[in-house]
Amino acid sequence: MDNIDYEALKKRGFLRQKQDGFFVLRLKMPHAVFEKIHLEGIAKLAGDYGKGFTHATTRQGIEIPFIRFADIDEVERRVKSLGIETGASGPRMRTTTCCPGNNWCKSGLVDTFSLYDRIEKELGLKCGMDLPHKFKIAISGCPNGCTRPQVSEIGIHGQVDPASPEKRIGFTIYLGGCSGKTPRPGFKLDRIFTENEVLSLVEKVVGFYKKHANPKQRLALLIEEFGRDKFLKDISFSLT
Ligand code: SF4
Repeated sequence: MDNIDYEALKKRGFLRQKQDGFFVLRLKMPHAVFEKIHLEGIAKLAGDYGKGFTHATTRQGIEIPFIRFADIDEVERRVKSLGIETGASGPRMRTTTCCPGNNWCKSGLVDTFSLYDRIEKELGLKCGMDLPHKFKIAISGCPNGCTRPQVSEIGIHGQVDPASPEKRIGFTIYLGGCSGKTPRPGFKLDRIFTENEVLSLVEKVVGFYKKHANPKQRLALLIEEFGRDKFLKDISFSLT
């Protein structure tokens, strides 16, 4: 086991376990929606290559622990054939979490799935993309913020615009939050955004982070270093 490139395996979704020789496979699906065929396939994989159980991850994925190194290639082949995506770890974009929003939650104001798709397809920002450190995006359908947008690098939730007489629905954005050993709340931008404005801002913030962050520096610390006003100016954001 001495010559194993654990970093490369991490990128493929296989994380080294506490128990020597075993790996946990992290799986994900867009919108965290696993269909019947995926769930049956995952159950079979857990039975054939794991210990017959799975674990629900905090980023809305499913992981299969206790996979042996020798089985990794075959498990990966089967995962791909089922059309299931693998999660990532290390210095990269993590799975974007999203609640159901107005797809079925009674409180949902916005279509969280649509925004998720646009971030991936139009901006090309996907889980596994190499970045200076971990970077998380969370989308919630309403101010209840079930995916915790306040403690993510970029947090977004649906919002009724209080300044709009016709009660326009838009998005609230938080930037620079994180959890972990030194949690920090993100700061809220004092405006309600359209979906297109959200996309533009997400693209700029990720671009800023890629350009300026040092290895292992989270966005919160980078913003502290820059100063919030300078950061907002750099991403061409104006509150007026
Ligand atoms: S954040 Fe709002 S829309 Fe999303 S699950 Fe929670 S209550 Fe429902």
